Amino acid sequence: KLKVITIDGPAGSGKSTVARIVASKLGWIYVTTGAIYRTLALLFHEANIKDTDLENIERFISFISERYRQESSTGKVFIGEREITQEIKAPLVSELASILAQEDSVRKRLLPIQRKVVLNNHGAVVDGRDMGTVVFPDAPLKIFLTASAKERAERRWKELNQNGQKTDIKELLREIHERDERDLNRAIAPLKAAHDAISLDSTKSTQEEIAKAILQFAMQ
Ligand code: C5P
Repeated sequence: KLKVITIDGPAGSGKSTVARIVASKLGWIYVTTGAIYRTLALLFHEANIKDTDLENIERFISFISERYRQESSTGKVFIGEREITQEIKAPLVSELASILAQEDSVRKRLLPIQRKVVLNNHGAVVDGRDMGTVVFPDAPLKIFLTASAKERAERRWKELNQNGQKTDIKELLREIHERDERDLNRAIAPLKAAHDAISLDSTKSTQEEIAKAILQFAMQ
């Protein structure tokens, strides 16, 4: 049986923290696929390439395919020896990742990378937007995690603040709405719950509580 738990949901719903807790309790790896989209965006950004110049994508995809690595215990992201955990969270990179994620050619090429990272391991908790619908349609347990936009903006604000990045909460809320809009309305793999997913709302729950609920489903 495929040992994969998928967690999909909008930006800031707490997917990656929850995925990490669940994975560590099960002794599985956790993979946050948004980081792969963000890595691609960072490479585009650093090479000063416009998001419309998709002919460059092949070169970047093979670069990522060979060098991308996520450390399951810490959540750190590397490209070769270089750690990019913080850089890929920068607002500019987030924005570009969300724009690139609308492209069919980008999504198709990132598909094998996401599957490879997961299937090389004996059990994985994966989070993203289309894990249950596109990347792992046969996963035995699928979660769709939501939270109100206001709560998600507040969480992002706290996270950025802890890292010493000053931001305006209204601006974050606007960004969240913008990214939701793109995720929900793109033509390819729009954000939606798989027909066999369990929906959970984390607005009023802690991430530990959500993780506990998921672990209970996993034990059934
Ligand atoms: O989850 P995270 O916010 O880090 O993802 C960054 C961007 O990548 C998102 O804006 C989303 O549009 C895109 N993404 C996606 N499909 C995934 C994971 C992320 O389209 N499976």
